[in-house]
Amino acid sequence: MITNLDRLWKNTQEELRVIMAPAVFQTFVAKTQLITLKNNLATIACPNSYLVDINHKRYLQLFRDALDNQTKTKNKLQFILQPPLSPSSDSAKNSSPLFSFTPPTASNTPNLHPQYTFDNFIVGNSNNYAYAAAQGIVKNPGLTHNPFFIWGGVGIGKTHLMQAIGHQIIKDNPQFKIRYFPAETFGNELISALKSKKMNQFKKKYRQLDCILVDDVQFLAGKEYTQEEFFHTFNALHMAGKQVILTSDRKPNDINKLEDRLVSRFMGGLTVDIQLPDYEMRVAIIKQKTEKKKIDITPSAIQFLSEKIESNIRDIEGQLQKIHIQALTQKIKTIDLSFVQNILEPSSSLTHPASATVTPRHLVSVCAKHFGVKTGDLCGKGRQKEIVLARHITAYLLLTEIKLPLKQVGQILGGRDHTSIMHARDKIHTQLSTNPPVRQLINQIKAIL
Ligand code: ADP
Ligand code: MG
Repeated sequence: MITNLDRLWKNTQEELRVIMAPAVFQTFVAKTQLITLKNNLATIACPNSYLVDINHKRYLQLFRDALDNQTKTKNKLQFILQPPLSPSSDSAKNSSPLFSFTPPTASNTPNLHPQYTFDNFIVGNSNNYAYAAAQGIVKNPGLTHNPFFIWGGVGIGKTHLMQAIGHQIIKDNPQFKIRYFPAETFGNELISALKSKKMNQFKKKYRQLDCILVDDVQFLAGKEYTQEEFFHTFNALHMAGKQVILTSDRKPNDINKLEDRLVSRFMGGLTVDIQLPDYEMRVAIIKQKTEKKKIDITPSAIQFLSEKIESNIRDIEGQLQKIHIQALTQKIKTIDLSFVQNILEPSSSLTHPASATVTPRHLVSVCAKHFGVKTGDLCGKGRQKEIVLARHITAYLLLTEIKLPLKQVGQILGGRDHTSIMHARDKIHTQLSTNPPVRQLINQIKAIL
């Protein structure tokens, strides 16, 4: 006879079938049975203790979400061992649950920085793809993207994002054994395990985990024995469907002296990169960091900082720290534009004598003459290549030689928006190091000014 419970469970399983890999569904879900559901506590029978264990550790959240969807309420779940030949619900009532909901134990120490959470992670153009993928992973650890490989330059949030995933997985699955470690730590521990003949303990320590967060795997480059051991650890966990998350300062195939088999393993899931933050994101980050620390700062000071600090997020934090300390020592309550200007460019008028003597009008006319265009063209709407380059260089020099604010440069150059001036500045800034003719042009103009 098909009972309501059977029907409910069948629908729940169907929901799980859609989101799980077929093999995972067949192995872990198909053979389970809902035995009782009382006071929102669902008891689910598994045919062997391995399934009890694995379903509780790895798939509890998935089961719970699917069941909650069906019952439209929040349920608690427990998995019990019940071999298939005794499906009577009486015996289920008498079975003692092998697992119940317990908070994380002291041995489950994942090594996570308490501040590196999703709540503290600003999402912008440079990291929104990586963030979206991370959100997918926490919903179904081990199933969505495995491994998940995050790469990018220093100080752009790789470690933060990886640990945010760890925090969220533990929050949703308190039983999960998660560990964060730099690849270097893995290498060092391996060497001491070898020396003290404790390799078995070493292997067990890593292979019993449900999720590993391995930071800066570029460290493995050239370390053959560490690569070998890491390869086996990776395989053991990955084959068991455990989530592996890795970071590096470059793509797997750009890491020199990394064995091909590791490169291909690392690229076997999803590889994402994080870029330097753009202007809007820098504003959001400065706002978030100052609000958190209750630092009183004016919007124009935030805007100035966001325009000035074009590098990574760690540098932004460093500059903010410097400004905050100066404000505290000088007993300044509100940090305003002139205060940050003084800190970031304490002697701009001394180091840039041009700013004292050169007027904007003079600079624009020198540029126009040098490029053989009319002043009106520089400030006009023309988009010919030569005019655009001349305009960008003029904007750059107005900003760097006379220290005019972005807005004013925009006004001088035909009422342009301050963001387009900012883009012009960034473009020329890059070309200075990559394009020798442009560098030469700028030096020639500076010499005439
Ligand atoms: P990476 O590992 O890429 O070198 P981190 O993750 O250590 O960089 O980040 C450097 C600092 O910047 C950390 O203090 C981190 O909290 C902060 N940070 C990075 N990305 C973000 C972000 N998107 N939002 C807020 N803070 C961030
Ligand atoms: Mg890092």
